[in-house]
Parts: sequence; C-alpha cells; structure tokens
Amino acid sequence: MYGPVQILDGKTLSVTIQRELADKVDQMLANGERPPHLAAIIVGANPASKVYVGHKIKACDRVGYQSSIIELPEATTQEQLLTEIKRLNLDDSIDGYIVQLPLPRHIDNDIVIQAVSPLKDVDGFHPVNIGKMTMGLDTFIPATPYGIITLLDRYNISTEGKSVLVLGRSNIVGTPMSILLSRNAKVGNATVTLAHSRTQNLDQLCSNADIIVAAIGRDRFVKEHMVKRGAVIIDVGINSIPDPTKKRGYRLVGDVDFDNVVDKCSFITPVPGGVGPLTVAALMMNTLKAAQLYRPK
Ligand code: NDP
Repeated sequence: MYGPVQILDGKTLSVTIQRELADKVDQMLANGERPPHLAAIIVGANPASKVYVGHKIKACDRVGYQSSIIELPEATTQEQLLTEIKRLNLDDSIDGYIVQLPLPRHIDNDIVIQAVSPLKDVDGFHPVNIGKMTMGLDTFIPATPYGIITLLDRYNISTEGKSVLVLGRSNIVGTPMSILLSRNAKVGNATVTLAHSRTQNLDQLCSNADIIVAAIGRDRFVKEHMVKRGAVIIDVGINSIPDPTKKRGYRLVGDVDFDNVVDKCSFITPVPGGVGPLTVAALMMNTLKAAQLYRPK
C-alpha cells in the first residue's frame, strides 16, 4: 500500500529556504534598505547554547543578514538582563532578537520572555504572539513548529482530517505545534492529541496516529510497535548518547528509534538533519518578517 519510506531532508530544504531569503535580502539592498539585523543574547557558558547560537549566526552570514551576539556572564542578574532587553527593544538598528534558552536558574524565563518587544520577538515566545498564533492571526510563529509546518508544506504532506499525536507539551514546541495543526489552515485541519508525561495508553494513541510529532527529549522513545504502518514521523528530539566509535565520544539521536521504525512509515525526519536545520531557517524567516513589517520607517 505504501511505497518506500521517504526521508524528509531538512538540511537540503533549509539551504533552499536560505537561498530564497538571500534573494529577498538582495532586493532590499537594491531598494536602498539595509539588511535584516538579528541579535542573540546568551547568558552563561552552556556549551549547547553556544553551538545553537553559532548555527544561527552562521545562517545570518549565509543569507546576508547583519548579526550581533551579546554574551553576558553566568552571574548576570535578572535586572541586568532586563536592562539589556530594554536597550534592544529601543535600538532601531536591530529588527529582531532572541534570548537563548535555557537561562541560568536564578533568572525567571517567563519574566524575560514577556519583556521582549512583541514586534522584535522573532522566537515567537511572547504571550501576545502566542495569542495571535492561537487566533490564526499573522505573527511570529515559534521557530521549531514553524519549521515543521514549512517542512510538511514543501513536501506536500496533507494534514487535513488526519489524526495527529504531538508528544510533549512544552511552550516552545509541543503546545504551539498542536495549536497550529488544529487550525483551519493549509497545513492544519488535523485532529490533534497532545500527549505528555501523565498521558495514559500512550502506545495505543501513538499507534492510531497518521502523523506523530515527537518532542519529549527521551532518546529513541518511539518504537516500531507504537507506529501505524504508513505514518508520517516528525522527530524533534535531540539527545546525546555515548558512542565510543565517535571521535567526540557521543552521537545525537532523536526521540524516535529511527532504525526500528523507518520501514514502517511513509515519511520520517532524520536526527540530525531533519527538524534542527529547519528551526534555524524558520528563525531567519521570522527575522525577515520583523524587518519588513515592523522596522521604523
Ligand atoms: P521539554 O523538556 O520542555 O518538554 C518535554 C515534554 O515531554 C513535556 O511536556 C513532558 O511532559 C513530555 N514528556 C517527557 N517524558 C515523557 C514521556 N516519557 N512520555 C510522554 N511525555 C513525556 O522539551 P522541549 O519541547 O524543549 O524539547 C523536546 C526535545 O526537542 C528535546 O530533545 C530538545 O532538545 C528538542 N528540541 C529540538 C529542537 C530542534 O530544533 N530540533 C528545538 C527545541 C527542542 P510534562 O509536561 O508532563 O512534563
């Protein structure tokens, strides 16, 4: 009934999207406008955060955006961070910015997220933007769900009327993903179940789903018996597991046991090379939007 599985190549699609964005930047320059400018605040020395911010800055270079990194020490107080955020909100030369998470424990994420100007909130985490997204209004959509929607769209994977199981309910991935796929939109109109750590009968819920979006941070959690034949599998998870055969001593795996389920599905994202690169491409799309819609004239 189903042909061979198709690997959803997020890496190649991300390159394509970035080329399209670079063309738009060329048009801006030709019109005498300056390129979009993305800033990233990073607090502390979390190595993974440094890697993620590095990917975002490299993407800015590729598409021709200006970028700035604001590195603050681990001991930065919440007040000092809020002062920096206020400065960025008022700086007309910056179109959009992100505050890389996680923040040190003494800083309240929610207070920080709410301090970011909704017009510069290219991560799409501010309650105003989450509210607009929920109402189906045009806004900044959180980068990972936006990347996944773009992936489904570009691969012409229909979600209409489909049964979707979103695994994980975080504010940045699972919850916005469930809202987007429920909406009356081209990539939407699905019947969505949002599962979490208190969900019962998870195996059964998964095995009834036409599409699974796994975002729980549990290495290779989704196994073959949880996957319906012909299902579409979107694996958001990034988990590091020891691997002595690798020079660095570890490798990255997803929340889905790829080797175990690959023959049973119609489409699947690899880890790495699936959702991750699209998250970066989506951030670039949001930054262009900030520059085009909200830059003071
Ligand atoms: P969080 O840790 O914020 O949330 C995890 C969610 O998974 C929670 O809702 C939790 O439930 C649920 N969960 C945890 N264990 C189980 C379980 N055994 N069964 C069912 N539900 C469970 O995760 P994030 O959304 O921030 O990230 C998820 C994964 O995606 C991580 O691996 C992260 O590294 C990756 N990620 C990847 C990105 C990319 O660009 N590819 C971007 C962002 C994240 P409860 O709410 O009940 O605690």
